[in-house]
Amino acid sequence: MIYFDNSATTKIDPRVVDAMLPYLYEEYGNPSSKYYSLAMHAKDAVEASRAQVAKLFGCDSDEVIFTSGATESNNLILKGVMETYGGKKHSLAVSKVEHSSILEVAGYMEQRGMEVMYINVDSYGRVDETALAATLDIEPVLVSVQWGNNETGVLNDIRSMAKRCEERGILFHTDATQVVGKLETSPLERSVRFLSLSAHKLHGPKGIGAAIIRKDELGIKTKLAPLIHGGGQEYNYRSGTLSVHNIVGFGKAAELALLRQEEITIRLQELEEHLRHKLVELFPDIVRFNGDVTNKIPGIVNVQFRGTNNELLIKKLSDRYALSTGSACSSSKPSHVLHSIGLTLNEIRSSVRISLSHMNTIEEIDSFCAFLTAK
Ligand code: PMP
Repeated sequence: MIYFDNSATTKIDPRVVDAMLPYLYEEYGNPSSKYYSLAMHAKDAVEASRAQVAKLFGCDSDEVIFTSGATESNNLILKGVMETYGGKKHSLAVSKVEHSSILEVAGYMEQRGMEVMYINVDSYGRVDETALAATLDIEPVLVSVQWGNNETGVLNDIRSMAKRCEERGILFHTDATQVVGKLETSPLERSVRFLSLSAHKLHGPKGIGAAIIRKDELGIKTKLAPLIHGGGQEYNYRSGTLSVHNIVGFGKAAELALLRQEEITIRLQELEEHLRHKLVELFPDIVRFNGDVTNKIPGIVNVQFRGTNNELLIKKLSDRYALSTGSACSSSKPSHVLHSIGLTLNEIRSSVRISLSHMNTIEEIDSFCAFLTAK
């Protein structure tokens, strides 16, 4: 199987597995227990991983809160911020192309009477400057805009958006799930107050991620109502016994991604360029790329094969190649991302997402293109 669905999840790196195994076999202590070495070893391993994840953004270790993944982090931050800071100014602003774990939370809050603004995007799927300015004028409590899109890879200038929010006293969150490990993310200004990410998108284990909750400009911890109450782990932001082996795997995946970050970015750019070039060369009349081809996360290619049905195409390929119609988390519905950038239903139904990893090869892309030509 040739795997081109790396935006859905990635293959775990064997070095990550090796780092995790001792914490499943020998080092099984509970890091919240006290006084004996088994617990202290587990605690030390958790703190070393916390420091490693913090390095992804150049933030402090105690700004990293381990969660079960980006879905939980998005829920914790949106619900926690609105509950804590909502007050009378009860509005939340999210872009129209966010992942379902943002949009569904926004919808849930709307049903409960909260005012939610949905920020328009331009024809590439990037947050529209005029729409953002109009949103900021209404002074929402929190603005949440993804760093990079999981279907098209299109990037937002979140640094500048966060600064504009900060100037007006508005909190800013970004879902960094797809960007981490593929592009430079450090150092990141404090104005990006909240971030979400998942380990399994960077060749780490599934079921572990982080909410990054930055301190304010005075170095004071940002308060947030927790989603999960209990023993007070994770600085009271997220209770429950820590998944030590997963946290260790996350730390190792972050370390490996950081070590080779520039190399990974360049490799992904090369692979993407090769794929685009081949597709245009082989199918000049039916291939059309969705979103922007520059200023994007390298390795995510969203492409229309005009006149084909994406589900049939993916099924035909499925014995040998894994790719998708878009987000794995809402794969039964036509893509809201492609709809927001103005594609017709027919265009959406002929679009597929090919998402690469630095572990893919030019030969795999050539084999895929040759197979497509034969079909
Ligand atoms: N946000 C984005 C942008 C994603 O791509 C994903 C995963 N598809 C998530 C959030 C949710 O991540 P997880 O399923 O690991 O919780």
